[in-house]
Amino acid sequence: MNNPDRVTAILSEVSRIAGYLWNREWAERNAGNISIDISEYFEPGNLPGDSKFYPFSLPAEAAGLALFVTGTGCYLRNLVDRIEEAACIIRINPDASGYNIIWGGHSENFKPTSELITHIKIHCFNKAKRPSCKAVLHTHPLELIVLSHHPLFKDEENFNHSLWKMCPEIRVFVPKGIFCAPYSLTGSEDLAVITTEGLKNRDVILWEKHGALATGETIEKAFDYLDVANKGAKMLLMAWSAGFEPAGLTEQEMKDLERFI
Ligand SMILES: [Zn+2]
Repeated sequence: MNNPDRVTAILSEVSRIAGYLWNREWAERNAGNISIDISEYFEPGNLPGDSKFYPFSLPAEAAGLALFVTGTGCYLRNLVDRIEEAACIIRINPDASGYNIIWGGHSENFKPTSELITHIKIHCFNKAKRPSCKAVLHTHPLELIVLSHHPLFKDEENFNHSLWKMCPEIRVFVPKGIFCAPYSLTGSEDLAVITTEGLKNRDVILWEKHGALATGETIEKAFDYLDVANKGAKMLLMAWSAGFEPAGLTEQEMKDLERFI
């Protein structure tokens, strides 16, 4: 099937961002997954003749969605130049009892990400609450994961304050901060529930001792949240490694930045 031009442009943006993830050491082996709601570019009911149906129990509000999703066990670094092997486009059927793969998935035993249920729940949440957010990115940002092992992680307000105070960009570009999600098994319903809960009030979800997730209008914007948040974590760890507690922006300096949010 030939994709609409806008979808082709979205796929090349995914390839570019996947290159960033690999270079940052945030996407070892099969780590991470990406999905994008591209329903607006596909006519309802218009399925290619050779697409196969996969039964899968999904929330009713997911009916009819068309999603770009990476594959389970696939290497995100392969999105750079073999995206049709490492990812696919699925179309969820009208009663949300499964989906067809309508593009990609060209590798042996290909299946969409094991985090599919989390991604779909987030897309349903976005559709209802903030429809401009189309992309979901889960990856393993090094310094954020390290900080999720620190006692600070158990005190979310203090955790966010400690990152925001490191430099103005973090306060301005991750304004709602980070949600500290307690450890939960990857791919579990629990993780899906807590993640969508966290997205109600925060920009970034940090999964304890595992990784982070963000959603944005585009995959690049989702990446930006993680990039900026991780910068705060990196600077905090650098200060601690150098043996001092950073002074941080003052309360007044932080307050003055609110005009840019
Ligand atoms: Zn992960």
